This record gives sequence, structure tokens and C-alpha cells, in this order.
Amino acid sequence: MKEKDLSVLRHSAAHLLAHAVKELLPETLLTIGPATKDGFFYDCLPEKNFKDEDLVRIEERMHEISARNLPLTHEQISKDVARELYRNNKFKLELINDIPGDTVGLARQGDFYDLCRGGHVESTGDIKYFKLLHISGSYWRADKENTPLQRITGTAFFTQQDMDDYVQRREDALKYDHRRLGKELDLFSFHDEGVGFPFFHPHGKTVLNVLTQHVRKHMKRGGYQEVSTPIMLSDSLWERSGHDKHYRDNMYFSEIDDRSYAIKPMNCPAGMLIYKERPRSYRELPLRLSDFGVLHRHELSGVLSGLFRVRSFTQDDAHIFCTKDQIEDEVKKFILLYDKVIKPFGFTNIIIGVSTKPAKAMGNDDLWDSATRTLEDALTSLGKAYTIYPGEGAFYGPKIEFGIEDSLKRVWQCGTIQIDSCNPENFDLTYINSQGTKERPVILHRAIYGSFERFFGILLEHYKGKLPFWLAPVQIRVLTITDEQKEYANMVVNQLLDNDIRVELDISSDPISGQIKRAQLDYIPWMIVLGKKEVENNTVTLRYADGKQEFGLTLAQILEKARNEQS
Ligand SMILES: [Zn+2]
Ligand SMILES: [Zn+2]
Repeated sequence: MKEKDLSVLRHSAAHLLAHAVKELLPETLLTIGPATKDGFFYDCLPEKNFKDEDLVRIEERMHEISARNLPLTHEQISKDVARELYRNNKFKLELINDIPGDTVGLARQGDFYDLCRGGHVESTGDIKYFKLLHISGSYWRADKENTPLQRITGTAFFTQQDMDDYVQRREDALKYDHRRLGKELDLFSFHDEGVGFPFFHPHGKTVLNVLTQHVRKHMKRGGYQEVSTPIMLSDSLWERSGHDKHYRDNMYFSEIDDRSYAIKPMNCPAGMLIYKERPRSYRELPLRLSDFGVLHRHELSGVLSGLFRVRSFTQDDAHIFCTKDQIEDEVKKFILLYDKVIKPFGFTNIIIGVSTKPAKAMGNDDLWDSATRTLEDALTSLGKAYTIYPGEGAFYGPKIEFGIEDSLKRVWQCGTIQIDSCNPENFDLTYINSQGTKERPVILHRAIYGSFERFFGILLEHYKGKLPFWLAPVQIRVLTITDEQKEYANMVVNQLLDNDIRVELDISSDPISGQIKRAQLDYIPWMIVLGKKEVENNTVTLRYADGKQEFGLTLAQILEKARNEQS
């Protein structure tokens, strides 16, 4: 279905909603009711606040009006006529005055009419698959100083199937909201003492560590070397990097010995100081330096959203210093590395885009064209499909962006590689080429997860809280039928710990059914169940989260199975 058509349908559904409201609650004043990306809403001033029961009633009435199959018509009327129609509605009168010209548009269906620019389905009967979702508060013209209004939000689709899919995804998104899962599974929290700064609890920190080990392992194999740079650096550095000019509003500042310092919002400038520390030879290039430093950015409190938008975070960040001739090869290597790191998470649909020169950009067109072509050539030679995102490059160069589609069909921008010819200039970076003369290197900025914190939030929702064995903070919980097996259980736990398995013992004396239930609620992938027979035979019973069991396994067999589950 074309997006434009859907917005026509939803705009018409907003009229249908208003029509139903006026029939049921005639004293209600209507204000505005547009179509949105996900549906439509109508802001009203009812005599009494709407209740949830009203939603049901209004939706029923909408179906009735739909069944009347009233044709939707549209006409231009004089403002005087319109003012007469809306003499008792100060909101519509204000809208009429704001519209330029002497006439305004009016839509009609049966005896209901509404101010409107036009663009409708033909008849109310065309609006069949819709749902009212919720009531919320709003303000006239979205201004808190103005009259408080009540907003009814709904959505509409052309088919029942589309409607059902939407409802299911919406329920899942609410049910598996990472903020909720983070609390339920005791992974992380937020506190007023540090607004927007996440606190990771033992299990949450464990998952972050696993994510770090995973990407670090692949980066090491890919020839990256890790560095660590300070969190605070003097203003002079940020002036040189351009952050002071372009990014100051997002940065935090402090003072040391009367000198102004900024808390770093990005790692790049610090990495350049390491590069510049001594002369570099072409033999050292490409030089791949990774820096998983903690970054701080001032985000407005209104946009903070669990782990998706925080004020302090860590990136799987790295900078590749290379010659111009090496760019394409390095981009290819990065794409292959990206696939290796992302594959174990089970994202099957990766959407790739090449972002080109934005309106405000540094560097001439030739430089941009050749850099953009290099990115496209790298993708093409690896057989990767991509789309062009016109004008969405960074101000210093074009980039490849990766989008991952999760199990709820949402696409998250995760991972990028960007070509930067500006910062080598700003920082006067050079290397000595094979002829013994100085040349400028190019910098590639790249990340795979992006922010570890945000990626963790995405994974939690993607897996609906059930992290797979290799990622789970507790991989195995050991349960005993009676306390008599506790000693054997401790031995099993210690052996697994010695083999780097994340394991814990259920120390309760609850019946085994209760212990199993608890492990399931905690989303623990494997349970080891020990009874009298297991102790006698020096074996274990393995129980998976889905209830499947394997009996009489040795610890060596458990370790073998665990190894096969690793990323
Ligand atoms: Zn309309
Ligand atoms: Zn960078």
C-alpha cells in the first residue's frame, strides 16, 4: 500500500472519529485531527474528560457510521459562512482566521462537517479496519500556556491482516520494552542522582562484558590495536577538532587549574594526538586504533529513553589511519568484520545505505565524488545491495550506514564507516611515503554496535528478554531435588566456573518444580538438575528452558555442548 494512500485513509478516519464524537457527545468542541506516521488523532475539548468506556462507545459508533456508507464531499465556502457554522467553537474560529484568503475548505459526510483541506476516501464505507488506541492529554497548539485538551489516538489500515499485524507488534513492543525487562531481570536502573546516566547491575554488566569480549575478539583478529584516552581534555583540542564550534551545546565542561576542559563526547581527537606523537611511516599504515572510552553528551531530558538515548555511553569505536589507496580495501575488510560480529545475533535483514554530501559540507565535489564511489565500489565488489541516502553524509565525508531489522520488524541504525579527509588537515597529520616525502593520511571512523548501551537495549527487545546461551548473564543454574545433593552441586558449580561458564546454584530448599519455575522466569537458558541418581553415577541431567531434558550426561559433555553454543 502506498504511504500517501494510507495517509488519505487515516485522515478520513479522523473525520469519522470526530463524527462519532459529535453524535455521542454533541457538546464536545473539535480542534484539529491530522493523520500521523502510525495512524491519526483528534484533539477535542469535551464537557467531561473522556473515559476508557467512551473509547469503546466511540469506536462502535464509528463502525455504525462506516456502515451507513456516507459519501465524503469537499467544497470551498466563504469565511463568513464558516464563522457562522463555528460560532460556538473558538478553536475552529482561530483556525479560520489563520487560513489565508476569503474561503476555507469544508468536508461533509451526512450531516457532519469539518474544516479541511481535502484528500479523502470516497465514502465512510471505505474505512473498515481501524482501532482507537488511547486517550491522552494535549494542549491547544501544543502550548502548555493554552487550553488543555483531550487527544484520542487511533490507527487505520486497508486490510484486517495489516491491522492484526500492527496490533500484535504493538503489544509485543510494550511487553518487551527493554526498560521493563531491565527492571524485571535486574539488569540496570536509572536514578535522579544522575539523570540519563545508566547504572548497570551485576547481570547487566556481565552482558556488556560479553558484548565487549565478542567485538574485541574479532577486532583483534582484524588487526586492531586498543588504546585508552582521557575522559577530560582541554578546550584547545576541541577548538582544533571543530567540536567547540559545531557540537558545544552537547558537551559538558569543567575546570582544572583555571583551564577549561570538556568531557569528551567523541574519541576521535584523542586518537589523533596518539597518531601525532611521533613521525609515522607508510609501513605502519593502515594503523587501526580502537578506543572503547566512556563518552558524555548532553541530550535534552525530554528525549532520554531508557538505554536507547542516554547521556553517558561507550562505543565500539575505532579509527583507521590509512593512505588514499588503502581506503577501498579497508572498507571491504570492515564490511566483512561487520558481518562476522553481527551474524551470531541472528539479524537476518541488514539494510545498507550510502550517505552522500550534505548541504553544509567541507571539501570539494571531486573529493566527495571519489570518496563516495570508493564506498560504493567496496559494497558492489562484495555483492552487497545498498540504497543511496542523498545528503545524509557527515560534514567531513560520506559514509556507509548499516540498519538491522529486529524480530519485531523494526529497523535500527547500527554501525557505520565514514571517510574523513578534514581532520587529518585540522590536526596536520602526516606520514612519510616510500619516496621519503610527507603525505596526508585519511581517517576512517567506524563502529559496529555503535553504543554498547543502546545495542544492549535493542538485543533485549529483539530476543524478548530471552538472551541466548552465549549472551545470557547466567548461562546455567544448578538445581537440587533435596539438600542432600548440595555438596555434589557445589562441586559441579566450581568445575563449570573453572571452565568460564556463568553458573549459579539455587540455594533454596524449595521443591524442584518451584526452582524450575524460577529459573524459567529468570530466562536462564540451561538448568542442571541433580538428584540421588546423578550423585551416585557422577552425572547430571540437563534441562533446557523449553522443558526438553537430557539425562546421564558427564560434565565433559556439558562443557562440549557449551562450547558449541559460543559465538
Ligand atoms: Zn478532510
Ligand atoms: Zn571518530
